[in-house]
Amino acid sequence: MNQTIVIVGGGSAGWLTAGIIAAKHSAPVEGGPGTRVVLLESPDVANLGVGEGTWPTMRDTLRRIGISEVDFLRSCDASFKQGSQFIGWRKGEGESYYHPFSAPAGYPNINLAAHWQASHTDISFGDAVSSQGRVCDRGLAPKQPQTPEYAFSLNYGYHLNAGKFVELLQRHCVDKLGVEHQLGHVEQIIAAENGDIEALQLASGETIGGDLFVDCTGFAAILIGKHYNIPFVSQGDYLFNDTALAVQAEYATEDAPIASHTKATAQSAGWIWDIALPSRRGVGYVFSSAHTSTEKAEKALAAYIKTDPNLADAQPSPRTIKFQPGHRETFWHKNCVAVGVSAGFVEPLEASALILIEKSAEWISEQLPRDSVAMAVVAKRFNKITSQHWRAVIDFLKLHYVLSARADSDYWRDHRESETIPESLQESLSLWRTQMPWLHESNYRVELFSSVSLQFVLYGMGFVTDIKDSHYRHWARDADIANRLIRENNVRAETLIATLPTNRDLLNRVHRK
Ligand SMILES: Cc1cc2nc3c(=O)[nH]c(=O)nc-3n(C[C@H](O)[C@H](O)[C@H](O)COP(=O)(O)OP(=O)(O)OC[C@H]3O[C@@H](n4cnc5c(N)ncnc54)[C@H](O)[C@@H]3O)c2cc1C
Repeated sequence: MNQTIVIVGGGSAGWLTAGIIAAKHSAPVEGGPGTRVVLLESPDVANLGVGEGTWPTMRDTLRRIGISEVDFLRSCDASFKQGSQFIGWRKGEGESYYHPFSAPAGYPNINLAAHWQASHTDISFGDAVSSQGRVCDRGLAPKQPQTPEYAFSLNYGYHLNAGKFVELLQRHCVDKLGVEHQLGHVEQIIAAENGDIEALQLASGETIGGDLFVDCTGFAAILIGKHYNIPFVSQGDYLFNDTALAVQAEYATEDAPIASHTKATAQSAGWIWDIALPSRRGVGYVFSSAHTSTEKAEKALAAYIKTDPNLADAQPSPRTIKFQPGHRETFWHKNCVAVGVSAGFVEPLEASALILIEKSAEWISEQLPRDSVAMAVVAKRFNKITSQHWRAVIDFLKLHYVLSARADSDYWRDHRESETIPESLQESLSLWRTQMPWLHESNYRVELFSSVSLQFVLYGMGFVTDIKDSHYRHWARDADIANRLIRENNVRAETLIATLPTNRDLLNRVHRK
């Protein structure tokens, strides 16, 4: 079908959306040209340049748009990410748990969480049902050197250099997928009589017309926010973080280990992320400005870096990024749809932003409307699903805070105040006190975080489900299978530990190939 899609913004959201749409629609079809995809970005407004942790969905996205994994790893200074480790979130110093990307053994045929809670709590939930935490503890890779591209022994996503990622996507979209790249600063929006966007007026005086406009302009939100005035719904009452200090930290030596998971270390007013790439680590403190000062946060971040023997003594000064946690009331209005930070951003925890960009762009690409009647229906459905996604993101992120027993600062105490917990999460928690989250938890077609993720966070944080009733009697019938799976998981962990290369070794080989 012959139509023009104009994507405004050349950050990760813009280029991922361009790649996902162009890979499916830009090839010429019988009887006419394919869809024209134009990406327009301002030469005067820099990208956000952060956002370096992904979910395993990124493997599918890269494969779908035709990027080879080796090219990606080399071009983006990328490494393998097998999940996140939450350090000091439950009680404070000296404890941690993993949220790994591989599902518990036997999932989805058997719910090992119930068996673990009934008779295996001598080891952590994560270690009982998954080998990935132990593999991560040793800095090992999720696959062997001979494992094919995008395949794995243990499920993984990536850590990547955000600037280099955008450069790779741009090259690929323009050279291989026919995306037209234009530089220009949008100054005005030319509206049609029916309220649609007819064209964009650039600072150069040029105009660019299109059928569908995707707002990927980040915090500026020039189409969905400035032009259409779609209200911004703050989530600051639930998720308090609003400031980040980010450092690209240098290694002390060239062969320093590369952790194969994101480390998230709880602080008195937020948490520190630590993302290891082959050539540097991205380290940052995201905190609530209502609970601490930038000065104190800088000191805490400096102390974190200083005590790590794998990081160099001298480091660059941190960059400060301010944001308001929240999202738009609706995301698709008339012939304009927002993807990325223009649609919303709450905080970096669990890397929820890039996965939402991937899911939104896929949905738009799959449901691309052919006329204005279809556009209105598609817009309504997109708004419904995207609102559900935001609800899931906010509840899932807040879950990490409400289960904490930390009482060392107002930040942690405030997170447990009932008025700071969304009603939907309070409901879920009351259900999970007597029933474990399992397959019925969500609608697979739209889910972002499955019951696998919920279980790892809940039972990692020490949550207890009362399983004394009929549910447990039913599960108890499978006790032999469960015990075998837990034993086999332990053997598998030992085998993987004995055979997997380190993350650094595997990445060195990728770069030498
Ligand atoms: C501290 C921090 C840490 C994060 N960590 C993670 C993480 O680990 N994982 C994750 O998934 N996400 C993370 N995120 C979110 C992630 O950074 C963003 O989702 C991602 O970078 C996408 O940004 P964007 O493309 O929407 O916006 P931007 O990168 O800001 O791009 C905006 C684009 O719009 C263009 N533009 C603006 N105004 C105009 C105009 N008038 N005319 C034309 N063009 C214009 C700009 O030139 C630019 O190209 C993090 C965010 C923060 C703040």
